[in-house]
Amino acid sequence: MYEAAEKDKAKWSFQIVPDAPDESKVAETLECEALVVGAGLGGLSAACRLKELGVTPLVLEKSGSYSGRGGHFGVPNSSLMVEYGLKNDLEEVARQWIVMSGNDIDQELLWTFLKRSKEAMDWLLPITVADGLAPRLVDCIYPIAPYREFYGAHSFPPKGNIRGSYVPKALYNYAQKMGIECRFKTPVTQLIKDASGRVCGAYAKGENGIIRIDAKYGVVLATGDIGGDEEMCRAYAPDALRTLASQYIPVGCNTGDGHKMALWAGAAMAEEVFPLMMHPQHYAWCNYFFLFVNKYGKRFMNEDSYVQGRATSIMRQPDGYCYSILAGDYAENVQDSLKYGGGIFWGNAGLRYGDPKTIESSYVSVERALNEGHAVKADTIEELADKMEVDKEGFLKTFAQYNEFCKEGRDTQFGKRKELLYPLEKGPFIAVKIGTALLEVVGGVSIDCSMRALDKNRQPVAGLFAVGDTTGGLYGHEYVTTILGNSHGRALTWGYIAAETIAADKNGAK
Ligand SMILES: Cc1cc2nc3c(=O)[nH]c(=O)nc-3n(C[C@H](O)[C@H](O)[C@H](O)COP(=O)(O)OP(=O)(O)OC[C@H]3O[C@@H](n4cnc5c(N)ncnc54)[C@H](O)[C@@H]3O)c2cc1C
Repeated sequence: MYEAAEKDKAKWSFQIVPDAPDESKVAETLECEALVVGAGLGGLSAACRLKELGVTPLVLEKSGSYSGRGGHFGVPNSSLMVEYGLKNDLEEVARQWIVMSGNDIDQELLWTFLKRSKEAMDWLLPITVADGLAPRLVDCIYPIAPYREFYGAHSFPPKGNIRGSYVPKALYNYAQKMGIECRFKTPVTQLIKDASGRVCGAYAKGENGIIRIDAKYGVVLATGDIGGDEEMCRAYAPDALRTLASQYIPVGCNTGDGHKMALWAGAAMAEEVFPLMMHPQHYAWCNYFFLFVNKYGKRFMNEDSYVQGRATSIMRQPDGYCYSILAGDYAENVQDSLKYGGGIFWGNAGLRYGDPKTIESSYVSVERALNEGHAVKADTIEELADKMEVDKEGFLKTFAQYNEFCKEGRDTQFGKRKELLYPLEKGPFIAVKIGTALLEVVGGVSIDCSMRALDKNRQPVAGLFAVGDTTGGLYGHEYVTTILGNSHGRALTWGYIAAETIAADKNGAK
């Protein structure tokens, strides 16, 4: 674990603990039993569960609304999975997760997630149904080693699409029904500790000035990630600054406020370098696994990789982009390839489990890329090369060599499996431009399995809890999609558990 004030890092401005505000300038004082900072999935889960367990929460949110995004919510073995006749072998999932994370995770946290997330999802499912959503399972996995992914991605469409913001909306509506106070446009700025050193409240910026919040049983930090704070990224996640775009919304709210407040209160970070969730989805959404070339027309990887693996290699190319080359029969080959590979940006990320595996989504996303000017099409490969932003000679050489590998059934350059060596012979040819987008930085505050924030000696910072993207420990050098959507799964589960811990503290204190 890594302390705030390690001497060699004291250069960062966020390490300087700000002075507490002048109490005489406090415009309003609020009281609650637990303060929840941030109304994303983690914060809203914590708040709703707190209220159910008899603890009065107050939710303060920096932006003008609750937050949500994406579409997959991954946990193993929910009751919905049981309905579909699916069951994950948790030991197998854990082993795969650990390997994919380069062994650099807190295995106790992983097992807490694997064992407890089912309960959190089973709690969430009826809340979403009551709000008009129709939960279902998604069929989009990389099915075999070395990047094996497991079923467990849930989606919550109201009418056919998979927008993730519907879930926080359902939780927010549930919170409103239960009478939970949620204040928007009220960023929390600093924690308050009592004489014993226990976190007992916070200051926030209200419309009329400083607000002091007294929170009897503590504060839950659910402020999301650090991706919107350039200095924090330089300190903890330099690769986040190499991606071509950040897709986080609400823009400008994810400035690591919870991480900073935790550091100032004596908590440690779980990782020295934070893992990233980044996807090859800048420019276009379709990349598949055929041939990738960089701006010099050079092939640079075995394209048969999972979503994060493709993103990392693309990000490291000159100017951070590449082209994915498709032949006229690409859609049939994509369909055929799903026996050997898949996952997002290869298979159909919206496919309902149980529905036929169609290739329609391949056509749709490629057509969209062409219409939006992020892909070019030509009858011959020479014409295609003229339309691409690549070194033509280099590209044509690479293309010919790749087709040789396909004919021989052996990729002596990067070792792609022979089953995936589909020759690129049939026109028209399409080149789709791909860059890497940052979704979230998924590292942060060190926590125990009860969601208590920990100091550098792994001792709890009394009264302080952290959930979701404000926390670390679950991923190694990058986010893993061992179960697609597990970042949402984590936010949901950690919020659910934090509420239980606080309720137990309250009951123990009675
Ligand atoms: C485009 C996109 C798509 C994604 N798709 C998926 C997906 O399909 N599946 C998946 O698992 N993950 C996905 N993710 C990641 C996922 O959205 C996050 O991991 C998850 O929402 C984290 O939830 P959270 O509650 O921890 O944080 P957030 O949802 O980020 O919520 C944090 C909240 O805290 C507020 N806040 C910040 N600072 C303060 C402050 N000082 N005071 C008060 N409030 C504050 C913010 O405004 C925000 O509302 C996606 C991310 C992006 C950007």
